[in-house]
Amino acid sequence: MPLDASQDLFSDDFSDEPFWWRAARPMEVSQDGMKTEVDVLVVGSGYAGLCCALELGRAGVDVTVVDAGAIGGGASSRAAGFVSGRAGVSKQINLEKAVGPERADAILMEADEAFEHWRDAIATEEIDCDYVHKGRFVGAHTPTAYRKIAAKMTEYNQDGRGLFEMIPRADQRAYVKSPRFFGGMLIKNAGAVHPAKYHAGLLRLCRAAGGRFVPHTRVLSILSEGDKKRVVTAAGDILARRVAFAGGGYTDAAMPWLKRRIIPMSSTIMATAPLDPSLVASLLPAGCPTIDAKRVISFARPSPDGRHILFGGRARFYPLSAEKSVRILHAHMVETFPELAGVKIINAWSGLMAFTFDFLPKLGREDGVDYATACNGGSGIVMMSWLGRKMAWNILGGANRGSAFENLPFKTQPLYTGTPWFIPFIGEWYRFRDWIDLREVRSGRAD
Ligand SMILES: Cc1cc2nc3c(=O)[nH]c(=O)nc-3n(C[C@H](O)[C@H](O)[C@H](O)COP(=O)(O)OP(=O)(O)OC[C@H]3O[C@@H](n4cnc5c(N)ncnc54)[C@H](O)[C@@H]3O)c2cc1C
Repeated sequence: MPLDASQDLFSDDFSDEPFWWRAARPMEVSQDGMKTEVDVLVVGSGYAGLCCALELGRAGVDVTVVDAGAIGGGASSRAAGFVSGRAGVSKQINLEKAVGPERADAILMEADEAFEHWRDAIATEEIDCDYVHKGRFVGAHTPTAYRKIAAKMTEYNQDGRGLFEMIPRADQRAYVKSPRFFGGMLIKNAGAVHPAKYHAGLLRLCRAAGGRFVPHTRVLSILSEGDKKRVVTAAGDILARRVAFAGGGYTDAAMPWLKRRIIPMSSTIMATAPLDPSLVASLLPAGCPTIDAKRVISFARPSPDGRHILFGGRARFYPLSAEKSVRILHAHMVETFPELAGVKIINAWSGLMAFTFDFLPKLGREDGVDYATACNGGSGIVMMSWLGRKMAWNILGGANRGSAFENLPFKTQPLYTGTPWFIPFIGEWYRFRDWIDLREVRSGRAD
């Protein structure tokens, strides 16, 4: 629903589409007609679906990608653009406790490998996506949070590369000018990308590799027919030798088994109207994105041209009008950057991310359908690109050496059918705990 652009928080040219679409819009129309029989059908046209299609296309496979909406209209053109390796997995959990020390190590190493691969790919494939490798600052909202982040840093630094460093409050101004933080962690091996341009670059490569794209075609169900799959879509049936499912946070009843294991989580971002670039540079001097360490996170980054600040997070965990979400986020933004009081908003949008009950991404095969899913609010740009490729290699067979994200337990919860009715309760509980944590700041004990 469009926002009321007359309201004072919104600039005259306000749009409720992603800011990124001003430079790269998802593909609404394709000349590729729908075939009734294909070798591999990919469901979902985000990074996972495209990277899968790219590998398959280059291996000479006849591949078609269908999407219920525009090609790339899901989370993949809505992200904030933060990219990293190991810092993107296991933020919410004690990984070693969850999967054991060996698997934990394998997961962290693979996340790093995924990031190296991602950086190599955008360079060698000449994907023009405004990538900058300037790190990321994780701000501590309390002194206690600073100590907790330091413990996580020790876990991350176990590879001996020293790519994570604690920055005390006295020095944080080199990264972020905000009264909200009590120091933080610098992730040196991280960066920021234009997510929609990255997606557009992948799409160009896929098309060059022979991939076919059919937007606005929802898959309704996937049935077995001999050794093939009959895929029922709103536009007719497709017979496929293999199906790769990459529905992300938009996964629906087409794959009920997966839907029962995925928690769709909404996140909102807004972009300020153009600012004086010197103001942007003074608030984020190193040009690196920043994220806080609360349970209910918020984050900020400069736009690639350095004229806007993009600020995002979760306004509330229950349905809210877009206008109210923006008002709440705007208040958070001003708490973080008081200099932005009165600044208007040019774009505000939301999207869905896929979470799992154990907060780990998953790669696997169920009932003959391959899937790659669930960034868990972490590094989906890198991770879903990586797992999409791995999914293709699984389909191709051959020399795939497997993945640490494969064959992990993939649990659901009793009575969960894919509608996350519990999110408002958990979300409010998280907000309450953040509020409790902030007592040490309110009481003045933190200074
Ligand atoms: C607001 C926001 C901010 C984010 N910020 C970051 C960030 O800074 N860094 C980062 O790394 N990640 C970020 N993410 C996460 C990242 O965007 C996702 O992890 C990633 O894009 C997921 O890619 P995907 O291919 O799995 O899913 P998507 O890109 O969501 O694509 C899934 C597609 O599947 C389609 N689909 C689903 N079911 C069907 C069906 N039955 N039939 C046909 N089509 C179907 C959907 O229409 C959708 O287009 C963010 C996400 C959001 C929403």
